Amino acid sequence: MPKSENHLYSGSQNAAEFARLLSLLDQDGADNRQILVTRPDLPPLSEFVEYLEVIWHRRWLTNNGLFHQQLEQALAEFLGVKQVSLFSNGTLALMVALQVLRIGGEVITTPYSFVATTHALSWNGIKPVFCDVDPATLNLDPSKIEALITPQTSAIMPVHVYGNPCAVDKIGRIADTYGLKVIYDAAHAFGVKTGQNSVLNYGDLSVLSFHATKVFTTMEGGAIVTNDEKLKNRIDFLKNFGFADEVTVMAPGINGKMNEMQAALGLIQLKYVEERRRRRENIATLYRERLAGISGLSFLPDFPGVEHNYAYFPIFIDDSRFGCSRDELYTFLKADEIFVRRYFYPLISHFPMYRGLPSAAPENLPVAEAAAGRVICLPMYAELTQNQAERICRRIDEIRNKK
Ligand SMILES: *Cc1c(COP(=O)(O)O)cnc(C)c1O
Repeated sequence: MPKSENHLYSGSQNAAEFARLLSLLDQDGADNRQILVTRPDLPPLSEFVEYLEVIWHRRWLTNNGLFHQQLEQALAEFLGVKQVSLFSNGTLALMVALQVLRIGGEVITTPYSFVATTHALSWNGIKPVFCDVDPATLNLDPSKIEALITPQTSAIMPVHVYGNPCAVDKIGRIADTYGLKVIYDAAHAFGVKTGQNSVLNYGDLSVLSFHATKVFTTMEGGAIVTNDEKLKNRIDFLKNFGFADEVTVMAPGINGKMNEMQAALGLIQLKYVEERRRRRENIATLYRERLAGISGLSFLPDFPGVEHNYAYFPIFIDDSRFGCSRDELYTFLKADEIFVRRYFYPLISHFPMYRGLPSAAPENLPVAEAAAGRVICLPMYAELTQNQAERICRRIDEIRNKK
């Protein structure tokens, strides 16, 4: 977009500065050789400006504003869940989810995730207990959970990694048997269904993230999903300093509220979610076709009965058969300005604040260790073109053949 045509900012007292910033971006944009692992989807700016005008006019900026209420309603309908409580980000939502259920002691969780999963436990003074993952899904392995339960265990916190559903029925049965709560970190699982049912309907609570890198984004944002209206009320108190009414503070709450600009963006984004999902599905199909049969390279299947959101496309490199290591492939692609990411490497259990825990010992987590050593997430976003995806596959094939 040539800056001269950017009439939005012309006449602004900052016009020169904005033009300079845009020209910096134009240089990047013109260099379409560069492919990042993700690129946030945004709606046409004009749609957002209409909402901003309403916000400026009403002066209701936060604290359960009009757009906030609308988005909670719209998301509940879209996702097929009963109650949605919006948050300023997913990490605060995880922390409040643990607080509202009064979780303490030990929580069994996965090391194969984004570090916020375990940090949310730490911020609540809870001891994380790492459990290995299932090689088929890389989600918490239900057959390994029971051995980790102690008198201190109060809950299980699994993650639907890459949006692939956990073994929700098995985890639910273990929780029922031992009287544990289940809180799903569903940051990757926006819109995912098993059968006709949202995967967010399992467990006591599920937590979403609307961070810029997620498939539904409000720049920063998140939510707690529950079927229990009373629980939603208490969640809403906790995210607003604990205020139950003007003079009643029910607990040491926090400020986790989503503001009206985030909520407005969310309302607009919802209109485009389905179209973007279809585009990502096409890219996943292309990746699968082009990369199938490359020896030493594997990927996860589409799981039967699951409506996927195609948020990520992880591949796994077996260096002896592929001919080079995962890290060599990473470096090679980077040299060609294809910036892939190693999600999830290092494992959470390797970070200094967690590696001293007995459950963090690598020999207890062989499947997670192996996956973290092999994984690369390929670029995946709605605006990724077929040509770009083809170029990525060609380069992967080239490095394999060169070795
Ligand atoms: C993104 C993410 C979070 C954190 O969400 P924020 O909205 O960035 O705070 C937590 N868990 C997982 C698995 C994530 O991917």
